[in-house]
Amino acid sequence: MRASQILIPTMKEDPADADVASHRLMLRAGLIRQVASGLYTWLPLGLRVLRKVEQIVREELTQAGAQEVLMPVVQPAELWQDSGRWDKMGAEMLRIKDRHDRDFCLGPTHEEIITDLFRREVQSYKSLPVNFFQIQTKFRDERRPRFGVMRAREFIMKDGYSFHADAASFAETYQAMFDAYTRICSRMLLNFRAVEADTGNIGGANSHEFHVLADSGEDVIAYAEGGSYAANLERAEAVTTLDQPPAPAAKLEKIATPAVRTIADLVELLGKPADALVKTLIVHGEESPIALVLRGDHELNEVKASKLDGVASPLRMATDAEITAAIGAEPGSLGVVGLQLPCFVDRSAAVLSDFVCGANETGYHYTGVNWQRDAALEEHQIKDLRNVMPGDPSPDGVGVMAYARGIEVGHIFQLGTTYSEAMSATVLDENGRDVAPIMGCYGIGITRFVAAVIEQNFDDAGIIWPEPLAPFSVHILALAYEKSEAVRDCADALYAACKDAGLDVLLDDRKERPGVKFNEADLIGLPHRITVGDRNLKEGKVEYRKRSETDSELIDQNDVVQHVLNQRS
Ligand code: ATP
Ligand code: MG
Repeated sequence: MRASQILIPTMKEDPADADVASHRLMLRAGLIRQVASGLYTWLPLGLRVLRKVEQIVREELTQAGAQEVLMPVVQPAELWQDSGRWDKMGAEMLRIKDRHDRDFCLGPTHEEIITDLFRREVQSYKSLPVNFFQIQTKFRDERRPRFGVMRAREFIMKDGYSFHADAASFAETYQAMFDAYTRICSRMLLNFRAVEADTGNIGGANSHEFHVLADSGEDVIAYAEGGSYAANLERAEAVTTLDQPPAPAAKLEKIATPAVRTIADLVELLGKPADALVKTLIVHGEESPIALVLRGDHELNEVKASKLDGVASPLRMATDAEITAAIGAEPGSLGVVGLQLPCFVDRSAAVLSDFVCGANETGYHYTGVNWQRDAALEEHQIKDLRNVMPGDPSPDGVGVMAYARGIEVGHIFQLGTTYSEAMSATVLDENGRDVAPIMGCYGIGITRFVAAVIEQNFDDAGIIWPEPLAPFSVHILALAYEKSEAVRDCADALYAACKDAGLDVLLDDRKERPGVKFNEADLIGLPHRITVGDRNLKEGKVEYRKRSETDSELIDQNDVVQHVLNQRS
């Protein structure tokens, strides 16, 4: 492609409203333009990258035995009513009406459509397993679209769905998809991690997210240093090393703590560390308020808490007024001694001795509290309620936990028979009985992948494309192309030779100053740059530079294409 014939509207300055590197660079390098909040146009350069991501995904899934289909973006309400989700989906689903006043939505996902296809077209267990995928536009009216295409409202997803006669068949396909996702990330040369993930309200044991590691990631990953355990923080299990609290040594004492509101206030007043204190949080229950008890230095994990029996989901913290009404004390003075509410105690709080907590009387705390003696632990349920902390032991016993940030690019999980049962998508088994197949579900954020790749591959000057995803592999900068016949001849010849060698090549033949060409080449970030200028051509040389390296070298104009090919292999 000639730069004079392709729209690459670069920007010299950072756009004001772009908070992360990928968003900034995608705008500056002319890959995308925003149309409205969360809606983007992909320009020629960006689209070339997107197509490369799609192609890698398509190849690996096809290789792994999945078959490609293409389902509509616009979906009829009836199918969502069939699955029971028409009323359950919140404001993320955009609902529309056609000219006959019939209800439709813009597909946020495609379980309903694929399950409907399956129930119409597949009748016998003999046709199982089947595994479908598509690469298609999704619409989700995200509350806070942000970070450019990373969290957009309209985006492209690869979504896949498999159907199985039994658990063993599901497990096999799940593993095949896990392996395919691993190969996809590896082929893109990403630093990534597969982690155990929360299964949401669908349940099932198997769920993994694939995260591209980057400081700008929205998710926290908890992983074991010196071990192999890794999970999304939402899901990572927190363990304690003690089985039992140590024997009580202190006696129970009530002390006045008039100005104490928070754990930090209490640490300051008593001079004790936060891990010797206990905090009591009150949440809404299905019937009455429920107390959640944690060590002072630990954070509540809301995903874990919202799954506790009797706790309202989504989780809602009680207001100050609700707390005072239920307990008769202000939120800063709650504790476990004499507490009259149903209570869940975190594992780490349950093994404390001689701890401090509120006295359920405004302005007072107890010190020297011991569960067995003072707080009827046997009446409470001990659960994992908290976020793992860096330094905790790994739940599998190997290594010490640490945090990293990740961008979720893929998610694979088990749907069980939720959709096949709700939508009566059954097959006949070998005894002629109707059975609901087990389903698996496999997503990849195609557009998000492009941003995630940039988050791992840039410097101050711009993007540094990894070879497999670069919009073009080679950038020929022809200096004074319009003035110098020698430059023109050489650049055109190299351009043709690159194409003959099967290289994707961009020739900068524009009437621009060298400085502009160099800066834009750095910004766009193609892996190989050949600069053709009169001065070096006098010696028959051109300049070669790799985008990922700072030094350039002079190479004979006749050898440079081969040189590029050598660098790539
Ligand atoms: P998130 O927690 O980031 O909202 P999700 O759990 O809603 O993701 P899935 O429904 O599993 O995501 O969708 C599959 C994949 O689609 C995700 O792993 C992600 O890569 C991508 N994706 C989801 N929402 C968006 C979005 N708003 N913009 C771009 N990509 C998205
Ligand atoms: Mg989401």
